[in-house]
Amino acid sequence: MFETLSDRLTSVFSSLRSKGRLSDADIDATCREIRIALLEADVALPVVRDFVSHVRERARGTEVSQALNPAQQVVKIVNDELVTILGGETRRLRFAKNPPTVIMLAGLQGAGKTTLAGKLALWLREQGHAPLLVAADLQRPNAVQQLQVVGERAGVAVHAPEPGNGVGDPVQVARGSVEQARRLQHDIVIIDTAGRLGIDQELMKQAADIRDAVQPDEVLFVVDAMIGQDAVTTAQAFMEGVGFDGVVLTKLDGDARGGAALSVRHITGRPIMFASTGEKLEDFDAFHPDRMASRILDMGDILTLIEQAQRTFDEQEAARMAGKLVSGDGFTLDDFLEQMMMVRKMGPIKNLLGMMPGMGQMRDQLNQVDERDLDRVAAIIRSMTPGERAEPKLINGSRRARIARGSGVTVTEVANLVVRFFEAQKMMRQMAGGMGIPGMPGGRK
Ligand code: GDP
Repeated sequence: MFETLSDRLTSVFSSLRSKGRLSDADIDATCREIRIALLEADVALPVVRDFVSHVRERARGTEVSQALNPAQQVVKIVNDELVTILGGETRRLRFAKNPPTVIMLAGLQGAGKTTLAGKLALWLREQGHAPLLVAADLQRPNAVQQLQVVGERAGVAVHAPEPGNGVGDPVQVARGSVEQARRLQHDIVIIDTAGRLGIDQELMKQAADIRDAVQPDEVLFVVDAMIGQDAVTTAQAFMEGVGFDGVVLTKLDGDARGGAALSVRHITGRPIMFASTGEKLEDFDAFHPDRMASRILDMGDILTLIEQAQRTFDEQEAARMAGKLVSGDGFTLDDFLEQMMMVRKMGPIKNLLGMMPGMGQMRDQLNQVDERDLDRVAAIIRSMTPGERAEPKLINGSRRARIARGSGVTVTEVANLVVRFFEAQKMMRQMAGGMGIPGMPGGRK
């Protein structure tokens, strides 16, 4: 899901990576690319327009942040806008003060309502609720039986009209189910209603009648994400015909474009509450706009990382340190220690590295990163005199022995640390030289 959009956006961002500053022309070009990316992902035009204009406005108005480079700033803006368009905050189910809570499902035939009823029931049961599934889809042959099968798999009771009673009246079934739930102490009722292949008045009227009869706490509109732009028209029709409180997107596993997800909320003003991602009952979860946005951007949790960095570092401090880093000059063991502590402040190093994209495969190596190593390095540096920290070349055999005693480590560990420090310093000089940074004395050494 969202592969097309992800790929497109990722390439937009990578072309920004080499820029030191974004001109208005750069921002316009970037916005054009984002617009194409969204249109290709099948996002509805009015949504695309709003999205792009917000990004442009914010990118132009951005204060220059020293903690983030232009590419990161644009990633952040696009991410924020995606979260907004997907609904902002996660919208949770509202439970009735006086149980049972009545949830009614509406949508076209084949949207995945019956499957979803089972998924939702299982999900709620796992949270300690006792749901009752209600077969009020008396139109589609086998719909009642299908719900019974689903209910059995989810381990949830099903209320259905008695077989042999003819077609039955779905409104009666729905009304009866609420009384049944009260009697049998089910705290939630999930009503599966009939869908048609297309939108028609009779279908809408039946859904509206059921709604009026049971006064649901939540009407959920179930929509197949694979129908693309049609999802928007269908949503509008259901909004007018029945009205709904939240949206459930199904078959998100099948759509590479995902435009429906990005349009429905904006067009109907109703939040996406759940997402269904496969045929199995477990392929289902609450919908979190923020997580979905970072999945679309394929940024791992890099955004969390960016935000943590912003919170942790004083920007001027970061700039000062960056200056020393690139020049390699005046970079002392004190700075080395200070940097380590800054990293430490940002959280356990493993979590930090785990948030970087592409680091997933490196989990084994990450598990070898030992926080205690950092503590030992800190202890060694703290056992040095200020003179030694500023000029590590001074550290000879007898000083090494003293430092080792003071920090409770071996002489070899002290020697290794000093060697590592010199290597780090050398590497920075080489990097600065390679980049040919003007005005950086270290750059030409
Ligand atoms: P209803 O007519 O709205 O009740 O739809 P159904 O629940 O019968 O689902 C229609 C078809 O879609 C079935 O074959 C389901 O297995 C399939 N389906 C439902 N949800 C998903 C999903 O999230 N992913 C995939 N791949 N298939 C789904």
